[in-house]
Amino acid sequence: MISVLDKNFTQLNTFIQQLNPTQLLILVDENTHEFCLPVLLGNLETEISFEIIEIEAGEEMKTLETAAQLWEILTEFNTDRKALMINLGGGVITDMGGFVASTYKRGIKFINIPTTLLGMCDASIGGKTGIDHQFLKNIIGTFAEPEEIFVYPDFLKTLPFAQLCSGFAEMLKHGLIADKKHWQELKNLPELLPENIYPFIETSMKIKENVVLEDFREENIRKTLNFGHTIGHALESLFLKNTTPILHGEAVALGMICETQLSFLQNLLSAEETEEIIAGILKFFPIIAIAQFNDNEIVDLMKNDKKNAAGSIKFSLVTSIGKSTFDVSVLTENILQALNFYKNLG
Ligand code: NAD
Ligand code: ZN
Repeated sequence: MISVLDKNFTQLNTFIQQLNPTQLLILVDENTHEFCLPVLLGNLETEISFEIIEIEAGEEMKTLETAAQLWEILTEFNTDRKALMINLGGGVITDMGGFVASTYKRGIKFINIPTTLLGMCDASIGGKTGIDHQFLKNIIGTFAEPEEIFVYPDFLKTLPFAQLCSGFAEMLKHGLIADKKHWQELKNLPELLPENIYPFIETSMKIKENVVLEDFREENIRKTLNFGHTIGHALESLFLKNTTPILHGEAVALGMICETQLSFLQNLLSAEETEEIIAGILKFFPIIAIAQFNDNEIVDLMKNDKKNAAGSIKFSLVTSIGKSTFDVSVLTENILQALNFYKNLG
């Protein structure tokens, strides 16, 4: 399912040779076109004809309009059901490409070659594809698995630092919810540099893959991957609406600090581990000022999160480092206290 590519992309070439598709459709955005496509094309050894499809970079492109344009392009290319789509990019490209591939002619095969850290450790794995619609994130989509995920960590060399941090937050999350050793190795990194992170990417990917294998449809254990995301998503939306947006991983780091404190307040996590987790996250993620947001507004947004039944907020929380639980109903008072804890950190 996950293959780490060697410098000649041997595994990818073998895969394509064995699958023998009628056509290759390579989906890129403007940045992955510039930085990653030359590496892919330089290593691709195949006689099969290929088309390159480029979209602009950014979350704003993850729309129905873009999907419709891509379906149209595939029709113009006379793409048949035996074609293979290659999604070369971050989460926007793998979400969009997977969605378009899984719906065109009732589904053609696709593979993901993630080029961001978030894409590698999170978005490219798990078979969730989708687009945003009417300001709702990922509201339309499919569960559709890529045939294979090919990882080439060297792509991270051109990734902006902030994007690297964003993906790192999800790696920390994987350690906290499922693998104590992974957490300890990551928290001890001296600095966030691609080469420091390389040795841990595969483990992080495997953690997500294993969780997803156990519960593809997110009925139970997959929910633990939402740790940090209930509070994180609410703040991500508020920043987007009111000021300058923050990156998803920054919101998740902030959310994980609040939800770690919440785990403590719910008597699920020891004081000692609460402190260790919060210090570990703060080592890499500076405190973001959130005092401008009204607590009730934040809580209301959480109530509207599509993962919650009307009115009740369910959290995925850490019970000890490397262990987690899900569907925890918490006291609103404790949520407010956790937010207040974060506000007073600075
Ligand atoms: P992204 O795809 O927008 O990439 C971030 C930026 O980095 C873009 O500007 C992109 O052009 C650029 N970029 C990509 N690779 C590069 C490289 N190697 N060098 C230089 N620049 C490069 O964002 P992302 O953070 O990768 O993904 C976020 C998206 O993923 C969101 O839409 C989110 O909803 C989705 N997501 C999906 C899942 C899932 O399970 N399907 C999980 C998490 C996130
Ligand atoms: Zn996330």
